[in-house]
Amino acid sequence: MDIKKGIAVSPGVSIGKCLIIDSEDYRIPRRTIEPSQRMAEVQRVRNAFHDAVRELTALDQAQQQDAASGGRIRDIFAVHLRFLRDRSLRRKITDVIHVESVTAEYAVSSVLREIALHFIAVKDAYISERAADIYDIERRLLKQLLGHKREDVGRLKEEVVVVARELSPTQTAGFNKEFVKGIASDAGGRTSHAAIVARSLGIPAVVALEDLTEIVHGGDTVIIDGNRGIVIVSPDEDTIHQYEAYGRDFVALGHKLDALRDEPAVTRDGVRITLLGNIEFPDEARIVLDKGGEGIGLYRTEFLYLNRQTEPTEEEHYQAYATTVRVLGKRPVIIRTVDLGADKYTQSRRYVPEPNPFLGLRSIRYCLQNLGMFKTQLRAILRASVLGQVKIMFPLITNIQELMQAKMIVHDVMEDLDEERIAYNRNVKVGIMVETPSAALTASSLARESDFFSIGTNDLTQYTLAVDRGNELVSTLYSAADPAVLRLIRTVIQDAYKAQIDVSVCGETASEPEYVMLLLGMGVRTLSLSAPMIPEIKQVIRSVTLESCNGLTRTVLAMNSERQISAYLRNMARKVLPEVF
Ligand code: PEP
Ligand code: MG
Repeated sequence: MDIKKGIAVSPGVSIGKCLIIDSEDYRIPRRTIEPSQRMAEVQRVRNAFHDAVRELTALDQAQQQDAASGGRIRDIFAVHLRFLRDRSLRRKITDVIHVESVTAEYAVSSVLREIALHFIAVKDAYISERAADIYDIERRLLKQLLGHKREDVGRLKEEVVVVARELSPTQTAGFNKEFVKGIASDAGGRTSHAAIVARSLGIPAVVALEDLTEIVHGGDTVIIDGNRGIVIVSPDEDTIHQYEAYGRDFVALGHKLDALRDEPAVTRDGVRITLLGNIEFPDEARIVLDKGGEGIGLYRTEFLYLNRQTEPTEEEHYQAYATTVRVLGKRPVIIRTVDLGADKYTQSRRYVPEPNPFLGLRSIRYCLQNLGMFKTQLRAILRASVLGQVKIMFPLITNIQELMQAKMIVHDVMEDLDEERIAYNRNVKVGIMVETPSAALTASSLARESDFFSIGTNDLTQYTLAVDRGNELVSTLYSAADPAVLRLIRTVIQDAYKAQIDVSVCGETASEPEYVMLLLGMGVRTLSLSAPMIPEIKQVIRSVTLESCNGLTRTVLAMNSERQISAYLRNMARKVLPEVF
């Protein structure tokens, strides 16, 4: 029995047989093998090269028919074929298997990535761009080696817990809840997008387990404790019985909290708080209402790009928004324009990935450089705005010019719709996510141009503390309880009040019981969170007085260390909601 501690990212308990999957871009864990298995792995490498050459030759022949584009593509294929036929490359890979006793996948990946890095290091742009060819060859070989295994998740017929080195939001969103009962990964953080998706789907998940994929084997029994961040590999009978009972208690608590659905989120001294839901897909809108949510505070529309290589059409955008708005009726639906980039979709489509994608072409920056795409989405949102209470929200605003430019494009689209006599709500509210330190520090001027703010504490924490939200190596440094983050949150709330615009919090802190009292004490009256967490947060709100929240906030803002603040917040939340802790 192996017990691993990671970060709990999606609550609940599951026990099941393990299915190991590899990440979308085939980053392969280092898995060692018995010396007796080396020859079999070497043979797998030979077969993979052989099949890759055959596949590429067939593609090359198909290109011969196409005189227009065939020439350039065939040049590329010729380069790839030369690599694949290079015996010294194959020898390098099989040497790694013999010397390090590792799997064929790992040997292929590590050797080719090392070669790619040498290419990248060369100052000549032509040569450094050839790294993309090496990555392509790596992918082609890995597809041969992993092809069958990769299809397993889509074709599941029995319940499993999924274990992976790293999961993308796309993979996670594609999981069938009926069969995927738990998720555990070596990498990731509490606010990485795969974690957020797991929480939305209600699948218990633990991330940042570092080397779990090296310990576990496919088919092992695994317990995922998404409440305490623990994963147990090959548990003994006693442990299984204990966890079965714990899982039953957790489900019972959930039912008890679900009974609060129609009760208002009001503090004991009568202050009404609005609880909205965060969604990624239109069909989650119904779940938000079922859990007692009063609207959608964050619709992450980039998930429309899931599992597709082409852009959604205006009609596809429109259908998604119209479906959502119709479910919500007159309640608010805040549609965030696409937040592509960083860990969402665009990297895998780039020939050479960006070196710092979280600081790169993401979110509103991506939209402002892809105006056709941006306008298509805005047209669809505006068309849907006549169906209910739609609001538009821009992500990752860092300065006033960006906001003005984005708003100008909304006006352009409105003019187009006017010309075409297409109906939309002329007074649609346009707000921004405050999720960069620069936006927080200039909130007073941004407030003059915004109808509302929504504080994205996930990114605000990452950018304030310079800590990657998805990197398990620095996950202990990632905390919204850091005094620097809290000061920025307070500034944003104060500036929103001064400008008399609405302010809500839609980052993951809104769904963490330990932060809720603090946010209320800072003046927040609207929280937006993933649907499964709404009942628990409502329970917290109904158990406290605003007066006690104000007192807690004064104490916290006088503290100067994250450790002290976190411990204090945890203790206070434990007192309010002992059954959850
Ligand atoms: C945030 O950054 O807090 C946020 C809500 O946006 P996302 O998690 O989608 O980046
Ligand atoms: Mg964000």
